[in-house]
Amino acid sequence: MTEVRKPLIAANWKMYKGPRETRDFVGRFAGLYPPRTDRTIVFFPPAISIPAFLDATVGRPDLQVGVQDVHADLEGAHTGAISAPMAAETGVGWGLAGHSERRSEFGDDDADVAGKLRRLLDAGLKPILCVGETLEERTAGRLEEVLRRQIEAALGGLGGRRWSPPVLAYEPVWAIGTGETASPADASEAHAIVREVRLEAPGDAARVVILYGGSVKPDNIDALLGARGVDGVLVGGASLEPASFARICDGRFDPQLL
Ligand code: PEP
Repeated sequence: MTEVRKPLIAANWKMYKGPRETRDFVGRFAGLYPPRTDRTIVFFPPAISIPAFLDATVGRPDLQVGVQDVHADLEGAHTGAISAPMAAETGVGWGLAGHSERRSEFGDDDADVAGKLRRLLDAGLKPILCVGETLEERTAGRLEEVLRRQIEAALGGLGGRRWSPPVLAYEPVWAIGTGETASPADASEAHAIVREVRLEAPGDAARVVILYGGSVKPDNIDALLGARGVDGVLVGGASLEPASFARICDGRFDPQLL
């Protein structure tokens, strides 16, 4: 029997919400968004707020949680960093790798991202690999080249590890936190490239899940989630307010449209 396609909706809280605000958010969000079996919801709070998130969601196992970043080493003298096994020990199920803010602010290069992806998998976490082009790269007609480079570099580090299903987020850098959003057609075009590159990768049999990220909001969620090839969204700013994110989580999705 073929599995029914359901959207994955993820909230990246970045460096917002300590434990107290996290508990407050969950209390209010849970009242606005009853559990639904036809979608997957994952939150990425700051690492220090993960225990509070888990405490607050004891009665809501549908609200899943992940870690925003892990180090590519297992342990070491890396002040401020956490490893994938440490994150797994706290009870998270997911991890981001390659977010553009990690690439631009913290200097993560393709090799670092490959290492992080590998560590997430080894720790039994589900990674979401983020890829996307800058405005200069897009304007110079380099969209496909950049996406291909980022994905191939990350896959090249897997060394035969199984990543199933692979989950990627296409996040054009020019649309992150800027209020600029890719049109549904732009998203579909980029998602088709990501899907093709991922499918070319050796040993890949599973269906690829591709999220769109970049200024997703209540007023554009239906159009973006309704675009061909979009399997879900990764949301930053608009996930910080319970009513806004609840509306996004209720976005219209057609499981048949791929
Ligand atoms: C993100 O941080 O992944 C993101 C897409 O942010 P925003 O929704 O604020 O553009």
